[in-house]
Amino acid sequence: MKKILVVLESQGEGLKRSSFEVVTAGKALADAAGIPMVGVLVGGNEAQAQTAGAYGLTEAVIAQNDAFANYSSTAVAEGIAQVAKAEDADVVLFSANAAGLEIAPRVAVKIGGGYVSDCVAADFADGNITIKKPVYAGKAQITCTINSDVKVLSLRPNVFTAVNADAATACRTQAVDITDAHKKAVVTSVAKNEGKLDVAEADVIVSGGRGIKGPENYNLIEDLADALDGAVGASRAVVDAGWRPHAEQVGQTGKTVAPSLYIAAGISGAVQHLAGMATSKVIVAINKDKDAPIFKVCDYGVVGDLFEVLPQLTEKVKAMK
Ligand code: FAD
Repeated sequence: MKKILVVLESQGEGLKRSSFEVVTAGKALADAAGIPMVGVLVGGNEAQAQTAGAYGLTEAVIAQNDAFANYSSTAVAEGIAQVAKAEDADVVLFSANAAGLEIAPRVAVKIGGGYVSDCVAADFADGNITIKKPVYAGKAQITCTINSDVKVLSLRPNVFTAVNADAATACRTQAVDITDAHKKAVVTSVAKNEGKLDVAEADVIVSGGRGIKGPENYNLIEDLADALDGAVGASRAVVDAGWRPHAEQVGQTGKTVAPSLYIAAGISGAVQHLAGMATSKVIVAINKDKDAPIFKVCDYGVVGDLFEVLPQLTEKVKAMK
């Protein structure tokens, strides 16, 4: 292994929290292997990249091209691949968030690398990276290595804890060559969920399931989420019924989350739901069925009617604040 490239994603004035997790994971691998690490930020600016200094990033490349003004995953993939080649990086780390999952395999093809997605552990051993990743909707975990010289990994968000490591990030720019052929699809407008915290980024999540009975009762979930400064999540049953948007769905075909606190109210705990939240640090379940499978994975369980439990819990949290 020669050099690690960590992919940074801008958000507001800084970077996404998941980028700091990738920096921490990359630094651990680089230190263990005794090789350098460099960050790449596509279309962002130096000030944004420098926020990764607090997590130990000492060097970053800002990939520049006017095409990046309008987001295109295929153009971003091309930009990252060009930087990887110019830097002679043979390990590229992404966050396995929505953008990372879309871009990482494209980059792997462009730079001739083997790719493993959604890694929950990546450790340097015997000259290679030993990777762990969940399979069969989280029922099992495999350990694997990538045997090609070039290795591309995406790391499950909220699993690798970002660790402070005071450093200053020296930035340089690289003009990359983006043609119309690289822009397969371009985002032309973005409708924002103003003020709403994304479940994938939240540290506290309160999710509702079919037990909530209808969208008119979701204020019970929202009130507790608000009191805890958390985000609102949902099971697929709720999303399929049209009660909540798909952006809030947690699980195998929704988002993967691992917040400090996950409260599941009226959710049975189907394996496909667990696949998205079982790695949460503390899980609280509220369900009126004492045999519901969610009680097998939770840290704290309340056997009770959510219509009685949720308002009381919200009041208690508000009172404590
Ligand atoms: P139910 O299973 O109907 O559970 C409702 C629960 O509410 C019950 O346990 C009940 O005891 C409890 N309850 C009822 N009333 C009350 C009350 N008053 N107070 C307290 N508790 C109450 N699901 C996901 O969530 N995310 C996914 O990403 C996902 N992907 C899937 C992918 C595939 C390929 C497939 C086949 C399925 C997927 N599913 C997913 C669906 C999954 O199998 C379950 O059907 C779904 O999670 C059930 O949602 P639920 O727990 O809200 O509903």
